[in-house]
Amino acid sequence: MLGSVVVGVGIAGCVRMRDLLAPLPSSAAEKLSIKGFVSRRTLEDQQGVKQITMTEALSRSDIHVAFICTENTSHEESIRQFLEAGKHVCVEYPMTLSYTSAVDLWNLAQQKGLVLHEEHIELLTPDFKQLKKDISGKTLEKGTLHFTGGPLKPNFGFPSFSGIARMTWLVDLFGELTVTAASLVEEKENKYMKMTAHFLTQQQKPLTWIEERGPGLGRAKTIDFNFQDGTITELPDGQREPVGLFMQDLVLFGRKLQGDVSAAELQAERSRILHCLELADRIQQLSENAQA
Ligand code: NAD
Repeated sequence: MLGSVVVGVGIAGCVRMRDLLAPLPSSAAEKLSIKGFVSRRTLEDQQGVKQITMTEALSRSDIHVAFICTENTSHEESIRQFLEAGKHVCVEYPMTLSYTSAVDLWNLAQQKGLVLHEEHIELLTPDFKQLKKDISGKTLEKGTLHFTGGPLKPNFGFPSFSGIARMTWLVDLFGELTVTAASLVEEKENKYMKMTAHFLTQQQKPLTWIEERGPGLGRAKTIDFNFQDGTITELPDGQREPVGLFMQDLVLFGRKLQGDVSAAELQAERSRILHCLELADRIQQLSENAQA
């Protein structure tokens, strides 16, 4: 059994604790048990789990794994601390708020022989799985993915990082991309922002990603993908699955810990994650240059 600690008790952290307390039967997630949680606040037991200090979490020999579920700005430091302490890490996306720090952390994990896993539940949703099937074999001409949602909480980073789940969709569907232009419109007093990023696929086809947030904006994704043989403007309704998204991710992480995921799969995942972080960096640079 691998003892675990959950760091950060927000929406994601609570789901992690719930799943660790009742892992999917006969899955790799059963190899994980929860030993405690870390929070900046002093809290009562959560779902029967006790609060421990960060120092304890880093030093206890019965804790082998950390789940980093805090706001994005603190991911990098927490990952580094746990890797340095010899613990495996599962971090909620985005791993960090820069490409170079992610490369550094991955190298550190490799040197230490530890698993560093970044959660990407957006790739596990029934709608996305169905969309990927529907698109398979089609030749893209151009496309747009427009996300809307309420204002973002503080400490989640530049929108190309906080919204990296949307860009991960595009990269997973259409392959590696090049950023050609990016801009950010921000009305701080109205808690409104709109980021627009333009890409080219390797086949030189244009893709646009819009991330728009503000009061009253409902959480939604709109797609408009034009292919040689037709257009997709509606997200398909994928078949609902009995296993929740975070549990599916926990099973994948558990399989990595057991050495049950092939080197080729790990390499492909790492390349996709680092590519997305590199694009996020570039979008931030271009947007900030345009504002300067
Ligand atoms: P949240 O604001 O609900 O939770 C963050 C929690 O972390 C808060 O309780 C905060 O007090 C705590 N925290 C922050 N810094 C800390 C520190 N240094 N030590 C201990 N606790 C600390 O946010 P959330 O929605 O749970 O998101 C957390 C992470 O999960 C983010 O990286 C987000 O991108 C990712 N994520 C969330 C979801 C989701 O459905 N909520 C889905 C995928 C990924």
